[in-house]
Amino acid sequence: MAAPTAVPSATHTEVAPPTLTPIPTHTSTATWTPSPTATPTHTPTATPTATPISACTDRIPPDDLLTIVTRDYGLSRYYEPQDLVPLSAHFPVTITLGFPNEVRAVIIEPLKEIVADMYAAGLAPTIISGYRSHYSQGIAWEKWITQYPEWGHNLSAPPGFSEHQLGTTVDFGSPENDNEFDGYFHQTSEGIWLAEHAHEYGFIMSYPRDTFDITGFFYEPWHFRYVGVELATQLKQSGMTLTEYLLATQPLPCIPEVER
Ligand SMILES: [Zn+2]
Repeated sequence: MAAPTAVPSATHTEVAPPTLTPIPTHTSTATWTPSPTATPTHTPTATPTATPISACTDRIPPDDLLTIVTRDYGLSRYYEPQDLVPLSAHFPVTITLGFPNEVRAVIIEPLKEIVADMYAAGLAPTIISGYRSHYSQGIAWEKWITQYPEWGHNLSAPPGFSEHQLGTTVDFGSPENDNEFDGYFHQTSEGIWLAEHAHEYGFIMSYPRDTFDITGFFYEPWHFRYVGVELATQLKQSGMTLTEYLLATQPLPCIPEVER
């Protein structure tokens, strides 16, 4: 896979400050870009509290809404969010379909709001996937690449490289395509509504259509990550992917060990 152009060089050794650049105020529907001042050009001496960059396989970030997870920048097998809660404690089986999914507590209220408003609009969304541990992502990955040797590596992520390990990402389902992950989701009533409105609740579609060269993933119209209303709205209106935004505005998170 060709590395996205926005990916900083893996040999970059300076340590960028750990603080996030404030999200720029959105003023245009077409031209918004992250602040260029966010480019990590600072000297190491300016950030005495920054920790050295370690291998991605060792990365255990704090639970944060803007943690970078891409095909290049993964997470340790030991990273697990601290505030996971079962979806079944907050949603009826008509939403969870009985799956034992968990998500971070921080996204429960936004999830309740988006689901309630979808029902009010006459829709019937389900939540068919949430947090996946490094281990369970490994099982899912094996299944995909075994079932689809040609395409599986593009349809799923290897363990450590899935946003689902963050606990802030969900896959929505629709009864119109039998709650399956397939290319027809974007044509379902639920998929159409989510594509249009999810950002109003703080959720952004991580892998929009025709962004494979940037994100490394094919179109996943069911896969939404919570980043907060302000950023989700900016991304939706600008057309920038979350991957581009995070790589442009956040410090280099770790050193990739494997070229994927
Ligand atoms: Zn997903």
